[in-house]
Amino acid sequence: MTGLNIGVLAVQGDVMENLSATRLAMDDLGVEGVVTEVKSPDQISELDGLVIPGGESTVIGTLSLVNGSLKKIKEKIASGMPVLGTCAGMILLSKKAKDRIVGDMEQPLLDYLDIRIERNAFGRQKDSFEADISLEKIGIPKFRGVFIRAPSVSEAGRDVEILSKIDGKIVAVKQGNIVGTSFHPELTSDLSVHKYFITMAQKGKR
Ligand code: GLN
Repeated sequence: MTGLNIGVLAVQGDVMENLSATRLAMDDLGVEGVVTEVKSPDQISELDGLVIPGGESTVIGTLSLVNGSLKKIKEKIASGMPVLGTCAGMILLSKKAKDRIVGDMEQPLLDYLDIRIERNAFGRQKDSFEADISLEKIGIPKFRGVFIRAPSVSEAGRDVEILSKIDGKIVAVKQGNIVGTSFHPELTSDLSVHKYFITMAQKGKR
C-alpha cells in the first residue's frame, strides 16, 4: 500500500493547526503519507481523506463554491472519502444551518451530513470556553473541547450517530465516513480525534 494522501481544505480558518495536528497524528500512528493544503478542485480527486477546518463557514463555503471545490468534495464524500469537519467544517458538511440570532441562513453547504446546525449556539466570541467532553463511541473517553463561537447540532437524522453532548446540546456526530465536531480538536495537544480520522482513512484505502 502506498502512503495516505490527506488534504486540509485551505480556504480560510485554522488551516495550519489542522495540517500540524494531522501530520503529528500520522507520525504518532506510524502511518506513511502526505498532508497537503488543498486549494483547488483538481487536488481533491486524489485524496484519501479531507479535513475541513474551523473558521467562518460562510467564507469557506462561498469561496469553495466559486472555485468548484464544493462540488468535487461532495462527489468524493459520496464515493466514500473520510472527512473530518471541525466547527465551521461541520457546518459546511451539514444539510441546513441556522444562526442563533439571525435565523435561517442561505449559505453554500455540502448538504451531505444529515443534521441541522445552530450556528453560534453557545453565544459570541466572548462566550468561547473549554470543557471536558467524552467521545466514548469512538474510543475517546475524555477529551478537552475548545469551543469558539461554536455551533451545535439541533437535529440529527436516523443515520447519524451522536458522539457527544454538552449541556444537552449535541457537539459531535458521525455518519458513515464523516465525523463532525463543534469544537476544535486541532487546538489541543491531544491528537485522539485526528488519529481516529486517520484510522478511518487507512481503512478506506485498504
Ligand atoms: N461561528 C463560525 C461559523 O458559524 C464557526 C466558528 C468556528 O469555526 N470556530 O461559521
